[in-house]
Amino acid sequence: MEVSVSSPSPSPRRSIAEKVFGGYYNGNNSHKKRGSEAHDDDSDGGMELMEIGAERTKNVLILMSDTGGGHRASAEAIRDAFQIQFGDEYRIFVKDVWKEYTGWPLNDMEGQYKFMVKHVQLWNVAFHSTSPRWIHSVYLAAIAAYYAREVEAGLMEYKPDIIISVHPLMQHIPLWVLKWQGLQKKVIFVTVITDLSTCHPTWFHPWVNRCYCPSQEVATKASQDGLEESQIRVFGLPIRPSFARAVLVKEQLREELGLDPNLQAVLLMGGGEGMGPVKKTAKALGEALFDKEAEKPIGQLIIICGRNKSLVSTLESLEWKIPVKVRGFETQMAKWMGACDCIITKAGPGTIAESLIRGLPIILNDYIPGQEKGNVPYVVNNGAGVFTRSPKETARIVAEWFTTKSDERKTMSENALKLAQPEAVFDIVRDIHELAEQREPAKFPYLLTSSFTSLI
Ligand code: UDP
Repeated sequence: MEVSVSSPSPSPRRSIAEKVFGGYYNGNNSHKKRGSEAHDDDSDGGMELMEIGAERTKNVLILMSDTGGGHRASAEAIRDAFQIQFGDEYRIFVKDVWKEYTGWPLNDMEGQYKFMVKHVQLWNVAFHSTSPRWIHSVYLAAIAAYYAREVEAGLMEYKPDIIISVHPLMQHIPLWVLKWQGLQKKVIFVTVITDLSTCHPTWFHPWVNRCYCPSQEVATKASQDGLEESQIRVFGLPIRPSFARAVLVKEQLREELGLDPNLQAVLLMGGGEGMGPVKKTAKALGEALFDKEAEKPIGQLIIICGRNKSLVSTLESLEWKIPVKVRGFETQMAKWMGACDCIITKAGPGTIAESLIRGLPIILNDYIPGQEKGNVPYVVNNGAGVFTRSPKETARIVAEWFTTKSDERKTMSENALKLAQPEAVFDIVRDIHELAEQREPAKFPYLLTSSFTSLI
């Protein structure tokens, strides 16, 4: 049975207080009884008969937003790991349900995030001032109440047996909606945290079935924030299986990507949005990696600008003494990293975790205040990289790694590999699978479908 939800019938909004404090749930029950008793019996009963006892593909809805590149990368990692591990047993949807179904401010988180991280002090204030639970909980509960029907419609479109949030703002609203509909016991809800250390408290919600923490530090914070030990698992940050499973040979990759096979290579990037001092660093590298006496380059430079199109055109218009490749948003990051010998990046958790798997020594040249600050000591104290904001200093370090200090680069590469957790994403999907197996078949979401159906 397919239920169309593309244009849910408009109805007057209930009062926010009624929804937040419980009247909403009762209201919906009465709505169901009044409006669709006979119809429910016919349609959903038929569906139950059809599906009882049958092996059914389970739907997994991964909630993400393109605020930066890390949430999408983690979502895609989980999707790919489900497919590799369980094949057709699960049907995966990676969605920004807010963008598709709700209105302002939820439907433009990308734009707001971009604006805030450009004005970094604004982001700093927003991050820290919303940290106390009473502030963000009240705010998110009010938004949940306002957009309850829209979020329900969004969730219903995908009829999820399992909801996975990989975003700090995607716990409260769907969990409220599941609670109001009495669906918490039927739909598994898990959070996969994608920040390595100093994460925002909105990641932690006491109603989740599981909270997957990428590090012990985050797990301790989750525990201090009230989550039970039974809810917390520490496997690492989920990274796309192309990093964990593919066997990549550097020489072949350089050939495939059109790079010089004999020159050491440095990768320069700034997350999904191409942030940080990329242009100044590129220029400094252009000078430092050219041996003036021998009149030849000692290294080559690859710059991945992500979605920052103006950075691509600026860099393409410059003249270089060394081989330089400028790219926009790349989907084959495992290959580009595999072709390089070290990386320069802002302290994004996704890029860091990927670099560790590839054994790339990391020069961190920037961080977003709040969630990325703690990633700097994580890398530096573990001997996997260094931190400097100076483009000239960065270029000098790379030039030394490529000449007189190649041993230092090798040691950092070994330290990086020790920190790497390429199997984390598989551990996460196996654990979610176990949770799903523990559920009684009768509680699976053909009932969910009927519950949602009655609302629209
Ligand atoms: N990324 C990508 N293609 C690009 C640029 C970035 O796939 O062209 C990925 C990168 O591999 C990483 C993510 O985007 O997985 C960036 O995440 P990170 O946490 O480092 O920073 P964010 O962009 O979220 O601030």
